[in-house]
Amino acid sequence: MPPDCLFCTLYRDGEHVAAVDGFVAIRDINPQAPVHLLVIPEHHIDSFHDIAEFSAEEDKRMLDFIADVAAREGLNDYRVVVNVGPGAGQTVFHLHWHVLGGGLSGRMT
Ligand code: AMP
Ligand code: ZN
Repeated sequence: MPPDCLFCTLYRDGEHVAAVDGFVAIRDINPQAPVHLLVIPEHHIDSFHDIAEFSAEEDKRMLDFIADVAAREGLNDYRVVVNVGPGAGQTVFHLHWHVLGGGLSGRMT
């Protein structure tokens, strides 16, 4: 784990809106929607490129947690986004899932 990784630090010491063993959710500091959460795994990988390093059990628990976090925020309709690589807008190189909801308009794609 890189010692200077922002999301490793926030996993340990951040203000978590939800947490289960191995995963936390925080509010994005620069929200792009009325509700904008980030789901962060404890297991550091630089990006989704390296998702094969996660076990099937971690994959399943991570996806279940994303769905739980959205439900706990009262979201029915929402987006789950992972920016993969700088060319796609990734700026923090610790895997994280954006959960965006509340008053979204239109499609992104
Ligand atoms: P990405 O651009 O997909 O790598 O997403 C990184 C996200 O982290 C951006 O939406 C930032 O607004 C958010 N972010 C950066 N620093 C912090 C912080 N200290 N607390 C919460 N969110 C942050
Ligand atoms: Zn990290």
